[in-house]
Amino acid sequence: MRKRAVFAVYTVAAITLLWPGVDASARARRQPAHTPPPTLEVPPETRLLVIAPHPDDETLAAGGLMQRVHESGGHVNVVYLTDGDGYPEGVQSEGHVESPSASDYRGYGRQRRREARDALAALGLDRASHTFLSFPDGGLCKLTRTYWSERRTAFRSPYTRLDRPPKSEMIVPDTEYRGEDLTQEIARIIGDFRPTMILAPRKEDQHADHCAAWFFLGDALTDVRRVHPDYTVDVLNYIVHFYAWPFEEDGPRLEPPALRGGASGWLRFALTPAEVRTKRAALKKYSTQMHVMDWFLAGFARRNEVFSRPSAFRVVLPSRRNLCCDQ
Ligand SMILES: [Zn+2]
Repeated sequence: MRKRAVFAVYTVAAITLLWPGVDASARARRQPAHTPPPTLEVPPETRLLVIAPHPDDETLAAGGLMQRVHESGGHVNVVYLTDGDGYPEGVQSEGHVESPSASDYRGYGRQRRREARDALAALGLDRASHTFLSFPDGGLCKLTRTYWSERRTAFRSPYTRLDRPPKSEMIVPDTEYRGEDLTQEIARIIGDFRPTMILAPRKEDQHADHCAAWFFLGDALTDVRRVHPDYTVDVLNYIVHFYAWPFEEDGPRLEPPALRGGASGWLRFALTPAEVRTKRAALKKYSTQMHVMDWFLAGFARRNEVFSRPSAFRVVLPSRRNLCCDQ
């Protein structure tokens, strides 16, 4: 396909997805009920790629893990799929306008990008450790199926009225709001960064952009694996939106009770008190979000984070069915 071929020129060292979670799952099933849940270890020289549908998801889910990887001599790269600009309530609140214009939404996206840079800096990560793809907030799900290829016009954001990222944000030339273009950009980033660990939303996340982000990562990995069958990477999932996931005042962060922990069982990652303080400080950089839902953000600044490993998967887009939303 047009852009899939582009990836072939980018090399990755090794492919063959490792599924360490399979063994971990068997261990988890053998554990008696009172045994503490397994924990996530950070190997030395980890290269962590975080897939964030919107600015703030990376810090909410993994503000502690990113600090630890960085402090341990590893590298972190955060890929923001959207600028988080398709949020009418947020734009109304920020701009004090009842009916925001496309220009208001674009400005809001630029502000959220600035906040993301400040949040990453607060976590101690340098400014080269992130990539904004500027795909449409609230539109990723439609790109998994309806707006997949050049056979139809690109998706146009009902908020920003854009149908492609700004040229300055394009990884692959001529990228537009089409599913195959987003897959291609993610595959390109994986090829360039060569992560040893990838963190992406779970498909069960109830925000359609988060769910779609999982399928785009899976499709990109399928592409990478096709070209570099020896590549190995540890894939982890996080979840942000899941019913009324409890926000206890000061307890440990618990896994959603109605959601199984994938192949690994839920993995808890304990933060030091200093890491919690730093994570909280990073979240406060997201002032646009703090204005409208500070309680939600604060609920993630806990003494631990929770992750899971997926069962072995092979995702191929476009999908024949609706994966995450009505299309
Ligand atoms: Zn999000």
